[in-house]
Amino acid sequence: MSILVVGSVAFDTLTTPSGSRAKVLGGAATHFSLAASFFTDVRVVGVVGTDFTAEHEAVMTKRGVDTAGIEHADGLSFHWTGSYEGSMGEAKTLGTDLNVFGAFDPKIPESYKNSDYLFLANIDPVLQLRVRKALPGVKMVAGDTMNYWINDHRANLLKVLAEEDILIINDGEARLLTGEHNLVTAAKKVMAMGPKSLVIKHGEYGATAFFSDRSFDDPNASTTLFRAPALPIESVVDPTGAGDSFAGGFYGYIASQPKLTPQVFRTALFYGGVMGSFAVEQFGTERLQNTTREEIDARFQLFREISHLDLDAA
Ligand code: AMP
Repeated sequence: MSILVVGSVAFDTLTTPSGSRAKVLGGAATHFSLAASFFTDVRVVGVVGTDFTAEHEAVMTKRGVDTAGIEHADGLSFHWTGSYEGSMGEAKTLGTDLNVFGAFDPKIPESYKNSDYLFLANIDPVLQLRVRKALPGVKMVAGDTMNYWINDHRANLLKVLAEEDILIINDGEARLLTGEHNLVTAAKKVMAMGPKSLVIKHGEYGATAFFSDRSFDDPNASTTLFRAPALPIESVVDPTGAGDSFAGGFYGYIASQPKLTPQVFRTALFYGGVMGSFAVEQFGTERLQNTTREEIDARFQLFREISHLDLDAA
């Protein structure tokens, strides 16, 4: 099975309590692709400038990611500058140089048209919708968004939400989207906007999935919600891309399974947490570039152990 992801491929300049890095490879589509590549075939649609070299592209192709859909335009790549302080709960955006990303018009290669799964990373909802409409045959559509689109482009965003099977956002975004502080109330309101299922990320505290009666084909799947933990990590170096890596692990696992069941959804949340936990251990995509399948499996077991309660144990 293959996932098509559309989103930013960028250079990030980052400052965290662990230090600084200038113009490292980043972008939502990049983090997502690397994380998902451990589970399934991934194809990227994005745009980069002349500063994006063969070496940068190789970071993705080495992981088997298909980069035929990355358009090379004249100019510089999207450049995001951000910093984190203290517990690094929230990024402070210091600069957003859109460069060639400002005129991004996603072009889907013919070879991508048979993609089974679609992930709409955080970009203009108008573009998200355009890509979704260009792929009417996909099995499943998942998406992300951010405060800017929720606040200033709401009408367009609502059109995309109506098309999504799974929306993956953080708790602040769910509250902003609905005006509800209570997470359960907010989740219900979000799902009334369209998504059949909703994953709300809680940063370093894990994620909660909310289901509707449309979430699974199985009429007996009466599950309503599930919460997965996050692994407490001793050395968090850079949280950039944690959310996209979570989404990559989560959706990559779903795409690798024959059918979406409550059990697959729950397991996927764990794999999302695993990939997010690797992402934060080094700057940019460094850690995901050097992760192995064995490390992923070992950490998945650790996730199971830290959240397992056996009432029959002595
Ligand atoms: P995350 O930390 O998972 O929310 O994602 C961070 C990534 O999103 C960084 O690598 C940035 O390059 C990228 N990013 C930051 N701002 C934007 C934006 N306005 N549009 C698209 N991507 C962005």
